[in-house]
Amino acid sequence: MNLEQVDILYDRDVIMARVKEIAQEITRDYQGKSLLVVGILKGAFVFMADLVREIDLPLEIDFMDVSSYGASTVSSGEVRIVKDLDYSIHDKDVLIVEDIVDTGLTLYYIKEILAKRSPCSIKICSLLDKPSRRKAHIPLEYVGFAIPDKFVVGYGLDYAEQYRHYPAVCVLKPSVYEK
Ligand code: 5GP
Repeated sequence: MNLEQVDILYDRDVIMARVKEIAQEITRDYQGKSLLVVGILKGAFVFMADLVREIDLPLEIDFMDVSSYGASTVSSGEVRIVKDLDYSIHDKDVLIVEDIVDTGLTLYYIKEILAKRSPCSIKICSLLDKPSRRKAHIPLEYVGFAIPDKFVVGYGLDYAEQYRHYPAVCVLKPSVYEK
């Protein structure tokens, strides 16, 4: 990690301790259900990999990638599916895994799209939550850490596709993007 560019917010040990707690809750809550864990690409891939390995239940995994619509609708936050799920979610208990919830608009639309496919249930698990920036009301059943309104990278999160591989969640120093 280049510590001239980032400040560590949560190191790997702190993250793993929290991931284990969340996985225990999920293991309790989904006993006897048809759990399908849906990761939102790309940011959730590291969190998802750690989380599912701590869940002590049968489960399936799928991924979805979305992007914002063109300039005219950016303010609405409406999303377009870039990569859809590979399998049906009919009658499944869907757990969406996300890296960070900011305005909440992305997840609002993802949930709306998936709800039309007759799943048994849909819940959300996000590693990070920036509640101060919320625009869409979206319940988050499992949250790792609530953070202040700072731009974070690492543990899957990027800035211009860099930093995803950093093992810690870090605040990107403004000097990096204010050049
Ligand atoms: P929302 O629709 O909730 O505003 O946007 C969520 C998405 O915005 C996240 O999945 C992530 O891609 C991006 N995002 C929001 N805040 C941050 C941040 O602090 N760092 C990074 N790397 N991405 C962020």
